[in-house]
Amino acid sequence: MDKSIENYTVDDIAGLIKDNTDAILIVDASADIYKSLKRTGIFSDLIEQTGSYHELIEKLWFHLNKTMDKIAEDYQVFVPTYGKFSGKYSNRLKITVNDVPHAVQMTVYPKRDDFYILILDELDTSEYLKDFFTNEKVTTIQNTYLFSMYIDLAKDSTSSISVTEISDETIHSSVKYSEWRMMIVNMIWPDDQTMFLERTDPEYLKKNLMPGRTSSFDCLMQNLEGKYIWVKLIFSRSETNNSEEDFRYVFMVQDIHENSVQLMSTLKKYEELASKDALTDVFNHGRIETEINNAIEIVGRTGRSVSMMMFDIDFFKNVNDKFGHAVGDMTLKHFTYMLKDYFKNNNTVIGRWGGEEFVAVCYDADIETAIRYAEEIKENISKEEYKVAGKITCSIGITAITNEDNFSSAFERMDKALYKAKSDGRNCVRY
Ligand code: GH3
Ligand code: MG
Ligand code: MG
Repeated sequence: MDKSIENYTVDDIAGLIKDNTDAILIVDASADIYKSLKRTGIFSDLIEQTGSYHELIEKLWFHLNKTMDKIAEDYQVFVPTYGKFSGKYSNRLKITVNDVPHAVQMTVYPKRDDFYILILDELDTSEYLKDFFTNEKVTTIQNTYLFSMYIDLAKDSTSSISVTEISDETIHSSVKYSEWRMMIVNMIWPDDQTMFLERTDPEYLKKNLMPGRTSSFDCLMQNLEGKYIWVKLIFSRSETNNSEEDFRYVFMVQDIHENSVQLMSTLKKYEELASKDALTDVFNHGRIETEINNAIEIVGRTGRSVSMMMFDIDFFKNVNDKFGHAVGDMTLKHFTYMLKDYFKNNNTVIGRWGGEEFVAVCYDADIETAIRYAEEIKENISKEEYKVAGKITCSIGITAITNEDNFSSAFERMDKALYKAKSDGRNCVRY
């Protein structure tokens, strides 16, 4: 029987709404349970007669935005804060059932604390769906800003939380800032946790961030898929409304992973360039000097056996004079290759001290071991046939670093040993 508008009552409408909604659930959040009063369409597969409210939250909206993939284990602590409602609430969710995406309108009516009525409706406008699932603008923001929220430190509260990987819309949440901080710290890379706690400390933020100012720091943080990525954590303090107790902030997490990784590999390349000798590709003077100092520090601290030796090519000036500088360079490269090749399986660091002089710092080598190394290298060097230059030899001075050494005491001994090798007729090893 068709009625005219005047004859409708609230009871009629209630019936109509009941008939037209796809699913009606009643939830007891503290008992982690829901019961379906009605479920039709996609919800008859998606939702059980009764079940865990936790699991329902995960299924409906606590999953990655583009897929139904689960959010990393550590983030599961946020599930209860996601499913908590203090007032009427409505949101659009993306749900994929059998590979087909659906847009769902969810409305929550809290009855009393932790007791809700959920009404779910599948939206079926295909035009709208297309828009909903391919929102370019959202994707761009999503790639840069992963997370944002408002903080009020005076009230220790958070609000308008937005997790772009979960949903484009903000979430109602009653999680306190102090609680939120202790939950998030677990997502931070262990080495960065101290810094995180220091920089997110309410007292720190109140003291160090003036109204209207923004500050940020970078750290490694687990994303919703459970992977550690580089992020920038940004706090921006609102201009105050002249109250002494006005501590309102915007907090944002920016994904800076790709740039950071690129920057770090560039820095590493520069660091390598800055410590390498261009001609021979072993460490340069500055870097090998640092290595000697490090070795002396290690021996002093741990008593580990470390020896070092200096090589000086014999009559190298003749090579240049006879064959020219270019052949000299080539011979130097060949000579360094011989050193590198010999030491490749030993724990030894090689550097060019200058000209035709090289230093090797041999870890875990006592003086006997170092002498054996040096004699073998000396033999290899003198037997090798060098292109154009023919045969060359070298003199080697060795010393073992003692736990009383400083740089000059150790270096002088090695230098004297080399001088002795030269004055004893060259092509020999002295220590
Ligand atoms: P000895 O050590 O046996 O006493 O004689 P030496 O001729 O090797 O010693 P000296 O120190 O007199 O000469 C070192 C020569 O090494 C001087 C220079 O021509 C050459 N030299 C130094 N650096 C380079 C370089 O980078 N390239 C070339 N081609 N030659 C270099
Ligand atoms: Mg020399
Ligand atoms: Mg020489």
